[in-house]
Amino acid sequence: MPVSLKRRTKKRTKKTVSYAKFQKLLVARPDVLHGYLRHDDINRYLEYLKNRYSFVQIHVLGMSHERRQLKAIEIDWNCEKNLEAIERERARRALLNRTTLTTTPLPQPSVCTEPRGRNTVFIEGGTHAREWITVAVALNCIYQLTEKHMRNYELLRKLRFIIVPLANPDGYEYTFVKSRRWRKNRRPIKHSRHIGTDCNRNYDFHWEDGPSKSGRNTFKGVKPFSEPETRAMRNILLKQKDSLLFFLSLHSYAESIMYPWGYSKDLPESWQKLEKLALAGRNAIKSYNGRHYRVGSIAKLTKRRISGSIVDYVFGVINVPLALVMELPSHALGFQPPAEAISPIGHESWFGIREMCKTAYDLEPPFPGLEETVHNGKLFVNAVKSTLQQATATTTVNKPPTYNALMSAMKSGDLVKQRHGPPKC
Ligand SMILES: [Zn+2]
Repeated sequence: MPVSLKRRTKKRTKKTVSYAKFQKLLVARPDVLHGYLRHDDINRYLEYLKNRYSFVQIHVLGMSHERRQLKAIEIDWNCEKNLEAIERERARRALLNRTTLTTTPLPQPSVCTEPRGRNTVFIEGGTHAREWITVAVALNCIYQLTEKHMRNYELLRKLRFIIVPLANPDGYEYTFVKSRRWRKNRRPIKHSRHIGTDCNRNYDFHWEDGPSKSGRNTFKGVKPFSEPETRAMRNILLKQKDSLLFFLSLHSYAESIMYPWGYSKDLPESWQKLEKLALAGRNAIKSYNGRHYRVGSIAKLTKRRISGSIVDYVFGVINVPLALVMELPSHALGFQPPAEAISPIGHESWFGIREMCKTAYDLEPPFPGLEETVHNGKLFVNAVKSTLQQATATTTVNKPPTYNALMSAMKSGDLVKQRHGPPKC
């Protein structure tokens, strides 16, 4: 082959690769605020956010019975990738402002690579197939925390979010194409003519007390975690258990915020804390548009015992300190309010959810007794800083602690008492 032709071929291949990369960045943005998205569109939206924001990651939790992917989005402002991106941007701006790089501040220690305690909020929607509004509200939370991240910066700098917008994709798709009122998943039951298990009765916490007739809408399944969807949720919950601060399960349409227990009318020891959290959400929504949510324990408000639910499992087995169920409003409109209601319900719910996240952080701070501050966009723990400065002053006169000294002192554990396990970024 002549040399000139070789060069041309090489050039063409190069062009194709860069175009493919460019195309990846151009994933179309599905409209989450004005329509109910199908499963494919939800995944496309998550992909769009991953390509656009350095603080977003997508996790595939598993596959449903009909081989649909169950995905979770992780939104973590303090992750290393994002902090590096901020640092690069700061350096770039410094160059543009004609200041030299040496004058820009050195990277400061962030909490990302260090113990972060319980700092994660976990939200799940779409467990019950026909409750479309729960999927839309979960997507609205994702929208607020990503596309409107500057409005929610105070929350993002303190908390990490994991959101599963659609926990039962097979059932959800079935409500679009066959039966709008379908509730369960779509896995056939062995030796039965019925199909589907209620995923919110399939968790291993007082599972045995749940409904055992396969024809019922609330069928608990043949055994705990018999369903691929509940196994996928269990696996991520167990993986994240040391970092989980607040778990929120979205349902519709009873207009209530409820706390454990569901299996019994007895109240858990920390019920007052849970009620305080629920009231924070209720009051925020009330002051936003006057809507009144009821607050109480699941068994008391629903006036029946609900066994094997995810929220009881998370609270009773995974030991997450704060766990709630939010029954969204659409009482007058049913499980699938018209598309025009998605945005108002989403915004109203976000007011309540955001307030509950803030309150959760205040009720269970990751490092109790240590005051936090933000410097150059990164979290500092003041008590750690000052103790280190005192420690260094005794050995080195007029010399501030170096970055490495600060890091090793934090790692030694003398200064920060790690309450829970290591971070699971
Ligand atoms: Zn439900």
